[in-house]
Amino acid sequence: MKFADVILPLALPRNYTYAVPPEMADSIRVGSRVAVPLGRQKKYAGIVKAIHEQAPSAYKTKPIMDLLDKEPVVYPTQLAFWEWIAQYYMCNEGDVLNAALPAHLKLSSETVLLFNDAFGDDFTMLDDHEYLVAEALNIRKELRIGEVQLILDRSDVYSVIKKLIEKQVCLVYEELKEAYKEKKENYIILNPAYENEEELAPLFDELARAPKQMELLLAYLHLLKTQGDVIQSELLKKSGASAAQLKGLVDKQILQVDKRTVDRIRMGKMEAQIDFILSPAQENALAAVRRCFAEKQVTLLHGVTSSGKTELYVKLMEESLASGKQVLYLLPEIALTAQIVRRLRKHFGGQIGIYHSRFSNNERVEIWNKVKSGEIRIVLGARSSLLLPFRDLGLIILDEEHDGSFKQQDPAPRYHARDAAIYYAALFKAKVLLGSATPSLESYHNAKQGKYGLVELQERFGGTAMPQIEIVDLKKELALKEVVNNLTSVLREGIRQSLQDGKQVILFQNRRGYAPFLLCTTCGWIPNCKQCDVSLTWHKHQDKLHCHYCGTRYPYIYTCAACGSQTLIPKNFGTEKIEEDLQQLFPEARIARMDIDAIRSKDSHNKMIALLEQKEIDILVGTQMVVKGLDFENVNLVGIISADSLLSYPDFRVNERAFQLMEQVSGRSGRRDGQGKVIIQASNTQHPVLHDVTAHNYKSMYEREIAEREKFGYPPFFRLMKITVRHKKQPTAEQAALILGNWLRPQLGALLVGPAAPLVSRVRGFYLQEMLIKLPRDSKKIAQIKHMLKEYFSQLLIEKQFRSVVITPDVD
Ligand code: ADP
Ligand code: ZN
Ligand code: ZN
Repeated sequence: MKFADVILPLALPRNYTYAVPPEMADSIRVGSRVAVPLGRQKKYAGIVKAIHEQAPSAYKTKPIMDLLDKEPVVYPTQLAFWEWIAQYYMCNEGDVLNAALPAHLKLSSETVLLFNDAFGDDFTMLDDHEYLVAEALNIRKELRIGEVQLILDRSDVYSVIKKLIEKQVCLVYEELKEAYKEKKENYIILNPAYENEEELAPLFDELARAPKQMELLLAYLHLLKTQGDVIQSELLKKSGASAAQLKGLVDKQILQVDKRTVDRIRMGKMEAQIDFILSPAQENALAAVRRCFAEKQVTLLHGVTSSGKTELYVKLMEESLASGKQVLYLLPEIALTAQIVRRLRKHFGGQIGIYHSRFSNNERVEIWNKVKSGEIRIVLGARSSLLLPFRDLGLIILDEEHDGSFKQQDPAPRYHARDAAIYYAALFKAKVLLGSATPSLESYHNAKQGKYGLVELQERFGGTAMPQIEIVDLKKELALKEVVNNLTSVLREGIRQSLQDGKQVILFQNRRGYAPFLLCTTCGWIPNCKQCDVSLTWHKHQDKLHCHYCGTRYPYIYTCAACGSQTLIPKNFGTEKIEEDLQQLFPEARIARMDIDAIRSKDSHNKMIALLEQKEIDILVGTQMVVKGLDFENVNLVGIISADSLLSYPDFRVNERAFQLMEQVSGRSGRRDGQGKVIIQASNTQHPVLHDVTAHNYKSMYEREIAEREKFGYPPFFRLMKITVRHKKQPTAEQAALILGNWLRPQLGALLVGPAAPLVSRVRGFYLQEMLIKLPRDSKKIAQIKHMLKEYFSQLLIEKQFRSVVITPDVD
């Protein structure tokens, strides 16, 4: 007797074992989808994780109902990866399955009603509603829930169905529905009898009386000759003929229609359109990467901005492809990196598969299958493309490896794509190249310790100097009344000079909207979100107040809710305000804003990039978005409006992040010819991070910060796990966290910090409590702690008053 362990697409703490019916025993495979029962009525499509002969001791197995795939949807490698993710990030394998599998491969179950033939045709005991359904069932024998809804045109269909079951009019079962649909196209083919040119001649005579059909036939023959395959819609469009005229030719048996399945995702030829020669510095770095790879699985490429890291990636990708393996190129935010996509397309032609959230569900299924079959050889994508079913991966490149968006926040699995990529690659014996101008402390530390290879590329391509950085003292300028519209005299003069020289300017401000909060000058009241404990940001363009935590929008408020006076003023400033300020200061300049409000669609972002490249924009104001991978040759000034706001929020990574951000924004300046300039406005001009940025001294920042981390027991010396406890009621959240903390403290001592309410202590109506656990770098100990946590979590959630408490562990 065979048994199968099945991962279900649910947040279940463990997998269930099912019996394999004898008729499936030969065809069932690890990685295939199966339909299995769970509970009384429910039926799910799960994935077979293992097949064995060991019956579970704790319960009696139910049999698998259906084998849904001939070919597995994932390889054992992916299943091993999922297991690791679930274990490491403390979630369920079902969470990982849900995140990985395209929606259209996750079958959904649907209730189907079957007419009970034993019932006969005496409908007198039914009420009106029951009668309607029963009659339809009698005729059609089978109804889906949606059809019942249509018949009844009311919401309580389930109560009617329940009655029908009780009265034995019908039986119900759950059907699993495949959502993916193949795309079909009509292909037009020539009747083989006319394959030779001579045989066509009499046809033309015959068609002399039907000139339109003749025209269509000629258009068809032309398309056939030029492109081989002719699709009906294309033929009609190009020839301007009607479907009736085409039908005429089909009726005469000259043409035939053949319905075929076509790919939505079509891969082009593998053809490099351009080539380039590496500079000596790049050649050295490439050789060094190869040497590291000979010994180590992971190598960190620390290359200053504009050193040409992308070109090194291309060379390494080519090598990996030449050995027949697949390559994964991970980027922080794929939708924002049209420039990189274009550059890589130039090298690899149509072989690149791009994976991001803007594909349709059907397209995702096709990408999934093509990665699985190996037809897609290069995948370019954000973190979720790590969950694709690669067949034989040879290399993972993680560009901008320091970027925080590689870490998934919500929902589970809360994985970090960098760390997960290293584990995944190891399963394939593949190499990982981490690249950054400002590596994360974790990665640089690992490289310094010899765990990763380290390659440094300290020279910009083409020998361009690193930009010159000037710190402007905001306090001093304010005292001299030299700050106009949030810009110091130095920055205003810098912008004026750049514009005069026909250059472009990028200004960075890390808050979007017009004003981060409103303030009543009479009583000090600040409008907050009803659901969250945060102030509302004024978005002047929409004339709305937005909550940046839950997304709720409120109408603008004129009257103070506390004292009734009309003395609300905007405080502080965001990108919208800076844009307006600039328009006043430089009325002639063409100014654009790049933040998620301005760039709602992928198209508007691409358009803005194109405008910048064509020098149709003089000044760009933006948030973090302007930092990511943009490469404009004509930008020679970058301004950071307020460095203080980057350096003053409570997070142990604040200095690292501030350095990374400022160094990355600076890197947008002077990339091609001539030295660029960066002007940073700051009140605290003596901050050590500003010194490091001015000197472009990553190592100085690293040494100082790593010493702090060691002293206070933060990563990379300890791993951190954050545990969030949430509940609609504040006392319940506090009490649950308190109890959990009291259980954990004797076990963990100083490794436990908290529980306490976070800075924003209520989000979307849930009160939050947080605690941090410092995990020592000892895998046995970590496993023990995770095990203990799981026990305590379930112990707490069993208690009646805590049943609706939500506990989320977040590792790293
Ligand atoms: P990084 O990713 O390190 O910031 P890029 O790869 O964007 O740097 O390179 C900076 C610029 O220099 C790009 O416009 C790139 O096309 C160009 N470049 C880099 N290396 C070469 C090369 N070997 N040949 C031609 N152009 C190069
Ligand atoms: Zn007031
Ligand atoms: Zn809110």
